[in-house]
Parts: sequence; structure tokens; C-alpha cells
Amino acid sequence: MPRDPRYDILFEPVRIGPVTAPNRFYQTPHATGFGWQRPQSGAALRGVKAEGGWGVVCTEYCSIHPSSDDSPHAFLTLWDDEDIAPLALTAEAIHAHGSLAGIELWHGGGHAANRMTRVPGIAPDVQPALYHLPATARAMDLSDIRTFRGWQRDAAVRAKRAGFDIVYVYAGHDYLPFQFLSRRTNHRGDAYGGSLENRVRLLREMIEDTKDAVGDACAVAVRLAVDELHGPEGITSAGEGREIIAMLAELPDLWDVNVAGALGNDSRSARFSAEGFQEENVAFVKELTTKPVVSVGRFTSPDQMVSQIRRGVQDFIGAARPSIADPFLPAKIREGREDEIRECIGCNICRAANNEAVGLRCTQNPTMGEEWRRGWHPERIAVYPKQEKALVIGGGPAGLEAALTLGRRGLEVTLAEAGQSFGGRLLHEATLPGLQTWMRVRDWRLHMIGKLPNVSLFPASRMGASDVAEFGADHVVLATGSRWRRDGVGVYAIRAGEFPLALTPEDVFAGAAVAGPVVVYDDEHYVMGGALAEKLAAQGHEVHYVTTAPVASSWTVMTNEQDFLQARLIEAGVAIHPLKALKSQGNGAVTLTCVYAGREEALPCGTLVLCTGRLPDGALRDDLSAQGIAATRIGDCLAPSSIADAVHSAHRHARLLGEPDLPPRRERAPERSL
Ligand code: ADP
Ligand code: SF4
Repeated sequence: MPRDPRYDILFEPVRIGPVTAPNRFYQTPHATGFGWQRPQSGAALRGVKAEGGWGVVCTEYCSIHPSSDDSPHAFLTLWDDEDIAPLALTAEAIHAHGSLAGIELWHGGGHAANRMTRVPGIAPDVQPALYHLPATARAMDLSDIRTFRGWQRDAAVRAKRAGFDIVYVYAGHDYLPFQFLSRRTNHRGDAYGGSLENRVRLLREMIEDTKDAVGDACAVAVRLAVDELHGPEGITSAGEGREIIAMLAELPDLWDVNVAGALGNDSRSARFSAEGFQEENVAFVKELTTKPVVSVGRFTSPDQMVSQIRRGVQDFIGAARPSIADPFLPAKIREGREDEIRECIGCNICRAANNEAVGLRCTQNPTMGEEWRRGWHPERIAVYPKQEKALVIGGGPAGLEAALTLGRRGLEVTLAEAGQSFGGRLLHEATLPGLQTWMRVRDWRLHMIGKLPNVSLFPASRMGASDVAEFGADHVVLATGSRWRRDGVGVYAIRAGEFPLALTPEDVFAGAAVAGPVVVYDDEHYVMGGALAEKLAAQGHEVHYVTTAPVASSWTVMTNEQDFLQARLIEAGVAIHPLKALKSQGNGAVTLTCVYAGREEALPCGTLVLCTGRLPDGALRDDLSAQGIAATRIGDCLAPSSIADAVHSAHRHARLLGEPDLPPRRERAPERSL
């Protein structure tokens, strides 16, 4: 298909100082969970983005000195010359496809915990280390500042030697240069504190130093948080954020701007932000500079992208998550295949990977992070060598992914779903507040399956063992999903209890009568408990959210959603009861126990909803086994987990069909004979 001419503007080259980006698609720096320990994994991941058409591809944060160590999280390093060769792999992988390679030089200041290097932290002032460590960052004196500027210069020179085209000065996300900028963290009385001009001094010097060091060949980009969302106490886009841009307007070669303070602010999940949500805070920047500007906003719609450029909000389409969900997003627009874009759902499972210190993963894109480790490519897959039939049973995320991937491999695939509609658990979960975009998991797969003549869909087709036997497939794949538990077993409560009057989330979705006060009991700790409490409160019920954890939906700390969620529950009038376990349900009340001291208390309860865990739906598998019919379980019917895990499990099965199931590659010392 030829490209829609409306999108031509997205493919214009843009000059950035001494280099030129081939188009406006700009993959802004984002964490991968690979860091300096896994250079080949990182290089392969970035290379696929460049192959997919991103004109600029940046690394994650790259520390300039051992006093900035984010262990156990994965970050890059340019501490000495030995760091150059591993990083050159990434620059080369990006250049192989004609894209520019950017590197985000980083110093965390008081935000770096230095657990590995054990070097005391540095900051504008003496300040307690974050992360509740019993440590304190020391204040930098003037000689420390001079030394620090040298680290930035040395790292920039090494970055240039590694082949990077764009070198960052990173003044966002509460890191060191930003700590100097903000009144909240800079209380110095010398030339680097006090007036805004003084607080900006270090950033100005860093830009000048970096340009001096590498500006002949490399563009110097500044990543700046123009609003730290702390109100007038901090930097705001109407106040000091604006003044900083005005003061430094023409100094860097590119402005990469966002709202920040904490990391979670500019990568908010879809639950807490819409596409393009930063626009109101960053749109002013282009008025103050002639240099190109980039920002992010989970852009997946080409029309929205064009609108950003035409309305002068930015010069590039900055993206982290949309490039993770679909590394080939630009290529698809270029080739007139924008309907094939695998849109990010905004779930922030990708952010959880970095927070958990493991390699990047994505709900929509099961190949993300597997480029080097397993050799998976998002757009290419080996054809299955035989003409065989596969029957996939269950049309939730796992069944849809399996049917699509087996179909792409050329098998003749039948997908049977008991319900009238495909989507499985999404049919419920995407009705929870803010989770509508999750339905993209289903919609993209159904759309792509529709293009494959060898995949047939059968809704309203509950399969029993005799149906499967009669069908006679070469491969039977079970994706029959899971059910919420009724026995109260969860993360904390490991023994089954009896709660005959309780509802499960499925009962609530099916329309069971709910009478207040409603107690939502969460011993699962991801989305369901908190989101259901929010939904029931919005319907006007008196809701008590009880959790065995210290905070609501505690695992959402990993997706950077927890504090937003807790605030939203409080605002919705939900009463939160942390650190309480459910003991029993009686007439009109539940009995809770304190998880530490065991003290009991009664809480009035008209309806109890148990969100504690799920059990695999294994009935069909048992019937098939009894008849001696082999079947492979995937997704939740094997082991209930996140949608991301269900999709990955399905993809893995389909991709490996007929192939050896080898362990993933690990980055190790070179082989030698022993
Ligand atoms: P997953 O996340 O693993 O994809 P889901 O629970 O989302 O799991 O989806 C499972 C799907 O399987 C549901 O849509 C359910 O209706 C369907 N299903 C369960 N048993 C059968 C069956 N015997 N025949 C056809 N479909 C089934
Ligand atoms: Fe988007 Fe979720 Fe994938 Fe992250 S994990 S890129 S938020 S779909």
C-alpha cells in the first residue's frame, strides 16, 4: 500500500546540530533492564527499533561515574574506556539501519543509592538518600562541582568514540542537574544556589562543556523536566520551567522536555493519563527556541502525531512505550499499513521490568526483550515446515496470540471460543475504570487474524473432549483461562477458608446483587482489587478496601501506578484498611485480623468480594487426558498470571512448535575448553 500523503510530514528529515535525523520518529531514552551487564541484549533491542524505522534511537540512562550507581536496576556505564566497546555494539546496531544513535548520560546525585559501588552519594546539599536507606548524600563543594563537570566531559568523549550521534545532558527525573535546578532540593548559599540564574549555572556549564568536548560531531541534547508537578514550590511550566528554557534556549542542539519530578509522572499508565497528556505542560517550549523539540505522550495514532507537528507542539514524535509495543510503528505508517500498528495499551508492565531489575517485557509485544536472548523478531517468524492443523480452544489473550502466531507460521488454525465474543478476561477487565485501552490486546489480534486466510474463528463454540476428538487436529492448544478463587487463598492466606456468601469478581461482572457496605478483600495485590473498589464506589456503594499489604494494589508500585491509585481511592471515598487479613464472614460483618499482632476486629459488611487469586480452568484438559488426547496448555489455564505472561506463553508455544525448547541465552564470559 502506498503511504497516506497526510503522513508525509512525519518522514521529513530534521537537522539536530551537526547531525540529521532521517525522519521525525524519535525513540526517547527508556530503560530496558539490560544495562551494562547485558550489552548484546541491549544492542539487539535498539537495533530492531532502528530497523522498524525510528529515525533516532536512544539508550537508557548511562552513568558517568561510580558515584551514580542505580543497582540493582540496570543502567549503562561510561566510567572508563572499557565501557566503550560494549556500547559501540548499540551504536552500530542503530547505524546499520540508517538511524541516529543517542545516549543519555546520567548522574543520579542524591537519587543514586550506590549499593554496588558503595561510594557515598553526592547532592547539592546534605540530604537523606532516597529509598529509605540509612544513608546520606554529601553536599558537593566547588571542587566537587569541577570534578563532576570533568566526568560529564570524559563520558561525552567516550560516547563519541563509541559512535553515538546525540549526547545528552540529563536534567530531569529528580537527578543531579535537576536537584541543582529545583528550589526544593537546592539550598546552597554559593554561586550554584539561591537565584534561578545560580541554580541554572551547573546545567549551563554542562551543556557548554559537552559541546566543547564533542559538539563538532555530536548533537548535544538536554532532557529537562519543565514541570515537577509540585506546584509553585517547585519548577512549573508557567514559572521557572519557562524561565530556564528562555535562559538556555539556543544553547543545546535539541530539547527533550517532559513533566517529571518522580519517574512515574511522565510515564503514567493509561489508567491515569490520556494520549498526549503532557502537551499542556510542554507546548510552550517551541515558542522560546528555534532548536528542535521532542516530548512523549504514548502516541500511537498517526493523526495525533501529525497534529503534534502541525500545531507546533514538537518537531519529533517522541516515544518510549509505543516503540516497545511496536518497534515497527514508523515502518507501518511509511508503508501504508497503519492499521497494523500494535498499539501500546498503557499498562506499564514495561516499567515493572526495570523496577524489578529484569529484562524488558511488554504486554502487547511478546518479542520485546527477546531479540538477542531468544532470537525473536517482532515481524519475522519461521514458516512451519509441515501442512498441519491446529485447534486452539479459548479466545482470550493467550488463545488469540497462539492462533495468530500459528497462523503466521502457516498452519491451518481453528480458534474456538465458548462465549459469543472473543477477549476472555479482557471482556471484564477492560470495563474497569481507566482500563478500556486494554481491549487493544484483543482488537489488534483479531484484526491481524482477519488478514490470514488460514485461520478460522468460531465464537459460541464450547468444546468438549468428544468435539476435540472428532475435530482431529494435529495440535491441540488449550487456552481456557482461569477463574477467581472462592476459598480466600491468596498471597498471605495460604490455607483455604469457607466464605459461602462471598462473591468473586466474575460474579460482580455477571451482575450479582451488591448491597452495602461492600468489602473488597485484596490478597492478590495487582489491578483487580483496587480497580473493583473504585468501580463500586463510582456506582455509589459504600466501599471498604481491605488488604494484607501496607498499601492498596501494592504490586502496582512496580508499574509506577500505586501512588496515583491510592490517591484516587481516597478521593473516591473508599475506606482503606491495610495490613488486615480476612478471617471469617458472618451475618452482616466480616472478621479481620491484624497481620502482625493477630488482633481481631469486626467490620460491617453487606457484600464481600474476594480478590485473592485465580485457579486454572483445567476441566477440559482432564477430560482430554482421560481419553488419551494430547493437548498443550498455555496462558492462564496453565498458570494464571498477568496478560503479558499469557501472551508470552502463547507466543512461545507457537513460535517453538517443532523447535527445540532451549534455555534463553545469557551473556557470559567467552567460551573456553575445560
Ligand atoms: P488467557 O488469559 O489465558 O487467554 P482468558 O481467561 O482470558 O485466559 O480466556 C479464556 C477463554 O477460554 C475464555 O474466553 C473462555 O470463554 C474460553 N473457554 C474456556 N473453556 C472453553 C471451552 N471448553 N471451549 C471454548 N472456549 C473455552
Ligand atoms: Fe505499552 Fe504495556 Fe507494552 Fe508498556 S508493557 S509498552 S505500557 S503495552
